[in-house]
This record gives sequence, structure tokens and C-alpha cells, in this order.
Amino acid sequence: MKLYSTKHTSPDVNFEEAIFKGLPNDNGLYMPYEIPKLSDEFIQSLEHKTLQEIAFEVSYNLIGDEIPKDVLKELIDEAINFTAPVKELNNTIGVLELFHGPSLAFKDFGARFMSRVMGYFLKKSSQKLNILVATSGDTGGAVAMGFLNTPGIEVTILYPTGKVSNYQEMQLTSLGGNIKALEVNGTFDDCQKLVKEAFLDEKLSKQLNLSSANSINISRLIPQTFYYFNAVAQIRRRGIKTDIVFCVPSGNFGNIGAGLLAKRMGLPVHKFVAATNANDIFTQYLNTGSFNPRPSVKTLSNAMDVGNPSNYQRISDLYGGKVEELRKDMASYSFTDAETEKTIVEVYEQYGYMMCPHTAVGYLGLTKYLKEESRKDLYGVLLSTAHPAKFVNELKPEIAAKVSVPKELSDLLSRKKEAKFIQPEFEELKSFLLNK
Ligand SMILES: *Cc1c(COP(=O)(O)O)cnc(C)c1O
Repeated sequence: MKLYSTKHTSPDVNFEEAIFKGLPNDNGLYMPYEIPKLSDEFIQSLEHKTLQEIAFEVSYNLIGDEIPKDVLKELIDEAINFTAPVKELNNTIGVLELFHGPSLAFKDFGARFMSRVMGYFLKKSSQKLNILVATSGDTGGAVAMGFLNTPGIEVTILYPTGKVSNYQEMQLTSLGGNIKALEVNGTFDDCQKLVKEAFLDEKLSKQLNLSSANSINISRLIPQTFYYFNAVAQIRRRGIKTDIVFCVPSGNFGNIGAGLLAKRMGLPVHKFVAATNANDIFTQYLNTGSFNPRPSVKTLSNAMDVGNPSNYQRISDLYGGKVEELRKDMASYSFTDAETEKTIVEVYEQYGYMMCPHTAVGYLGLTKYLKEESRKDLYGVLLSTAHPAKFVNELKPEIAAKVSVPKELSDLLSRKKEAKFIQPEFEELKSFLLNK
């Protein structure tokens, strides 16, 4: 697999280099030169394949021979050891539940695949590695759980104080071992900026062998393509042959970026809908053609509180910078917290189905698109990005009372939080990394 930087001034790399470097020196993002089109035969036979078989086919086509086939198979079976079912909400809408992994959010796909792939390459070279990651909530837990006790890897997670839920905080601060947490007195964007600064500091980056686990890392994007194909497989298996619309609740736009990549590989899809909250930078870009990052604001769907969606660069690159081309494949809408809260209640009352706030934003986006689109013969798939119990403390008490909390979450609250509180200053991060 050969990759370039979207800014075109850093050297090309192979897959191994891309995942350990994370970010090219020119501050672009890595993109594969070749996005292979999967065979018609494979696409036609999706309904006869398991999630793991699909994952192998897709990743082998993308990555090529850098990981031996048998190793890749094993690694997928270990990383993707949970399901991603499409639950029927009604005749025209299915919910693709991506929260059946250990941290109860879709980021388990990326984090678990990435930790296994890195582990494979590190074992070959017997090196040590420091992972640095900023989280708006869910990345931290997925990375902490995905990398816990991975030999040769130390993980430091930066999160914005007061802006993640209790469960999210405990998932990333209470595991111990090779997982360290920094509680930053700022926003997610501050955390992301600190991480970027560390990578751009070449001396520090070399000295610590720094690597990222954010959604900018190509090894997190790849496994996020798997479940789009697997969703189509499930829908076809039910005899539904109509065109499919995927709606993705979006923040950094990694999840939907993976969907667009999957489409380029041959995923049969009519349209992607990106649903956003008050942080509607990308929605505005799609609608106006100009991309204007701005500081993020706190919302109910906190994992989507991103003011400068980093995968914008990748998506824009994928469409040659032409927003009018992107519009053919993607629509986008944004919604308020009041609409989100109301939707959680309405969907629960109508279908008896409880959604987390992010999923509810996605539901709003999907239903709005299906209503506006003139074609009536579409099947909508809503990506449910997290288990509702992860956000139970953010919900109104009368709704929260109806959410059943899985034991793996409730147990977390009796653990001990360990995090170092820092100001959003690069010097503070640097001294922590050098002295820990
Ligand atoms: C991370 C996250 C999102 C946003 O996904 P992106 O890939 O950053 O767009 C949405 N919902 C939940 C629950 C998340 O954890």
C-alpha cells in the first residue's frame, strides 16, 4: 500500500510507515494512491459473507502484502470479535448498531484493529512506541481498552475537563498499566492542537517514537469501512433490494470518510447523509462551499463537538477539492440539542428503542433526508455510534430512568480515576511526556 500526503510536500510512505507516523510532516493526511475497486462478484455475493470475511477481503485489497494473509486473518478475527447488527426500526429504516465492542462505541473497530496491526509490526522490529491521542469522549475509552497491555506500547490520552461523560472518563482514566490520562483545562480542539504540536516537534517525536491513534490514522479508517459492506449484506439477506442511504452522526468525519472510501471501493449506496450538532462546520461547507473552522461548542452529543473536523482534508482530497462532486454523494444537516432530546423521547415512545444523543442526531438527519428526497423507494440505515447508557448522565432524569446500564459500565464507577490535570500549554504536555 502506497500513500501520499494530501498536502503533497511530504514523502510517500507504505502502510507501516503511515500508521506509525500518523501525520505527515507537512500537516496533511495520508491517503492511498490506489483505492481498489472490489470485484462485482464480491459485491454480488456480500449476503453470503460474514463480517470477518468481508473485513479480510476489504483490508487485504487495500493493504496488500505488507501483512501476510494468514496474519491479517488472525488479526481481524481477534480485533473484530463482536457483531454489528442492523436492527429494524420500521419498514424503511434500520439501525446499524456499532456499540457491541468493549467500550460500547463504534471506535472499538478502529482502535482494536489498529492496536493489533501496530503490535504485529512492532513485534517484527522489537521497538517501543508512545501513542498520543486526543479524545472528545469515545476515542479515549476505545483506545485505552484496545491498547491495554499491548507489549511495547505506552498510551497517553488527552481529554477536555468537564466535557466527557462520567463513564467515558472512567473508561480512559481507571485502567492503569500502560494507559495514562491527561485532563486538559480546555476544549477538545485544544487537546487536538497539543497532540499535533507534539508530532510536529521532530526532536520530541523521534525521541519518544510518538504515534497517534486519532481518526487521522489510516489504520483506524480502514476497519470502519467493514461495517458498511456488512450492513448491505444483512439488508440484502432480508430480501430488501432497494437503494440504501447511510446517515452518519459526524464530528471529525472519520466514520463517514470511511463510508465514502467504501463507496469508492464499490459499496452500493445511493447517498451518505452527515448529521451534525451545533458544530456544523462541515454542513456549512457542503452547503456553501467554504470551509470555516471555528471553536467547538459543547452539546449533548459531545463526541461530535469538533470545530475543525480533521478528515475534511481527506474527504476533500477524495473529491479532488470539488464540493459539487461531493454533493452528489453526500448531504448534510445540523440539529440543536432541543431537537435531539425531543427525538430520543419520540423514538422511544414510537418504537420502544432507546438512542444515545449522537444516534438521535443521526435519526433526525436520516428522516429529514428521506422526507426531502423525491424518491420514495429508499432504505435508510442509521449508524448508531454508541450505547445509550454511556450518556445516561447527560439525559433528562425521566429518560435516563428507562436506559438499562450494562454491568461493564456500572462497574466502572467504583474504580479509581487517575489523571494529571494540565493547562492547554505544549510545555506542560512535553514535560509530562519526558518525565513520566
Ligand atoms: C466519535 C464519535 C462520533 C463522531 O465520529 P467521527 O468519525 O469523528 O465523525 C459520533 N458518535 C459517537 C458516539 C462517537 O464516539
